[in-house]
Amino acid sequence: MPKIVTTPPANDDAELLRGSLVTLRRRCGKPNCRCATGEAHETPALSYSMDGRTKTVTLREQDLADVEAGLARYGQAREALEAEALAGIRALTNRVAARRQQPRR
Ligand SMILES: [Zn+2]
Repeated sequence: MPKIVTTPPANDDAELLRGSLVTLRRRCGKPNCRCATGEAHETPALSYSMDGRTKTVTLREQDLADVEAGLARYGQAREALEAEALAGIRALTNRVAARRQQPRR
């Protein structure tokens, strides 16, 4: 029986994204475009840092909901990790304090 290979969906429910949503504004340079005198073109983008540099992924409007969800999942995961780390610090602090109260061997 052939092995069934499943490809994960492009927008996995568990996808995490780090960074922030920004709006890029630019003028395209065409003299007759509305951006020459009026509002610049706006493009949503995900701005994130990697290896000490700020990088940008330009997006489309239809990407925004998925990106926002991925950013929210990252924030929740980071908060959960932070809470676990603080609980670990409390437990360590308690163990050290309890050890200090025991007579030295
Ligand atoms: Zn333009």
